[in-house]
Amino acid sequence: MIVKQKEMDKRVYYKINLETIFASASSMGISAIKTIRISGKDSKKVLKLLTKKNLPKPRYQSLQKIYDIKNSSLIDKAVIVWLPGPKTYTGEDMAELHLHGGNAVLEHLIKNFSSIKNLRLAKEGEFTKRAFLNNKMDLLEAEGVIDLINAETETQKKLAMQQMEGNLSKIFNNWSKRLFKMLAYYEAQIDFLEEEVPKNISNKVIKKINTLLDEITTFLNDNRNGEIIRNGIEIAIIGSPNVGKSTLINQLVRKDVSIISNIAGTTRDIIESKVNLSNIPIIFFDTAGLKQQAKNVIEKKGIKKTIDKIKQSDLKLFLIDVTKKINLDSLKFSDDRTIVVLNKIDKVRKEKLLSKINKLRSIKFKFFGIISISALKGVGIINLLKKIKNFVKNKYSHLLSGEPVITRSRHKSALKNCIRYMKNIDNQKSPELNAEELRLAVRSIEKITGKFEFEKLLDIVFRDFCIGK
Ligand code: GDP
Repeated sequence: MIVKQKEMDKRVYYKINLETIFASASSMGISAIKTIRISGKDSKKVLKLLTKKNLPKPRYQSLQKIYDIKNSSLIDKAVIVWLPGPKTYTGEDMAELHLHGGNAVLEHLIKNFSSIKNLRLAKEGEFTKRAFLNNKMDLLEAEGVIDLINAETETQKKLAMQQMEGNLSKIFNNWSKRLFKMLAYYEAQIDFLEEEVPKNISNKVIKKINTLLDEITTFLNDNRNGEIIRNGIEIAIIGSPNVGKSTLINQLVRKDVSIISNIAGTTRDIIESKVNLSNIPIIFFDTAGLKQQAKNVIEKKGIKKTIDKIKQSDLKLFLIDVTKKINLDSLKFSDDRTIVVLNKIDKVRKEKLLSKINKLRSIKFKFFGIISISALKGVGIINLLKKIKNFVKNKYSHLLSGEPVITRSRHKSALKNCIRYMKNIDNQKSPELNAEELRLAVRSIEKITGKFEFEKLLDIVFRDFCIGK
């Protein structure tokens, strides 16, 4: 039997008896106004208890006194809004209280909330989770909301908005619809006698499958891009001990317009620094401690981790100490994603530097560019940053074009599965087997938008949220 699209869309997870939740929609700390949001079927009751009045007109702001439920003392004078469901963010009845932002007011209110049965503090992302459960958005759009909240650069914001608006969902929905049509063909073969299904159709279906397969593969191959916008371009700073890696990273981070964060890495051998370069986040890895010989098991592990990190990085800055003899052997690691950086030029004369550069250029090895600097004196750093920007423009220009891209490895692995199932389809096989492969292919895509098996996915997706969203 063909599984009807509509049946798959139906979400039966909306539970009438969900508890009512509340959270501050603004950040903690003192502010002029603090917005508290409430969602759930008891929102109405909470408003009535606090104002000791009937509900105000829906969707209008009204200034009201908020009272202590037990002793009727005044908590605050606040603007309240009553938002009856289902036309709300979560799809449930909702209320908003815009209170004065002091901690005492908030504490007094929360003390009152804790005395109301069936009302509790929301968990991370619970408002958006309910919006998803009530069909207000699909999983991709919900992830777009998280990304928008966390967006630090204009490009990240643009991408998150796109996803939140459902642009990526449109692409995936189109694919699953097309897969469904192909599935219908194989189902028909199962249900009807061979003579009743026109012969040339099977070739047409295979052709369609191949076209779609190409489309999905191309989309997938383009798509380390979305992850890059979301997480940043990873630049590894490599070179022998004492070539000046740490000194350089300090310079790079200092010279840049905005330092986003300085995170100590998971091993003491990798230090990460995140900066914002031309609207794309860049993460520098200082791979200090990459020694030739590991002294013990822990060092060995550290080195392996560093090497993996280097392999995965999007660009390498390969540091060379110009005062030392160049180790030609090490240049074999260089490729078209490597900028060779000659450091400590303050210690050598110009002629010596030029002859080194010429020597390097005469050797056959791949690189994106050669730049001379003095990390200690801060000479040539601007040039190096320009070269990095050039690299970014060169390799990732399409990132800034605004096309929808995949931003999460979760989507990527689902698409890979889909491709795998589609590749198994073969007209030499029975229609039953082909139908099963197609069903699995559809299911892989629908896992991305959350139409299938989303219970398991929910926790993974929503734990990145902050409380109050
Ligand atoms: P790392 O082991 O590669 O991280 O190297 P460091 O950044 O710790 O630098 C090793 C030594 O080289 C330190 O004493 C630095 O002050 C020095 N150094 C780094 N860059 C330069 C440079 O451009 N010129 C000079 N003269 N010394 C430098």
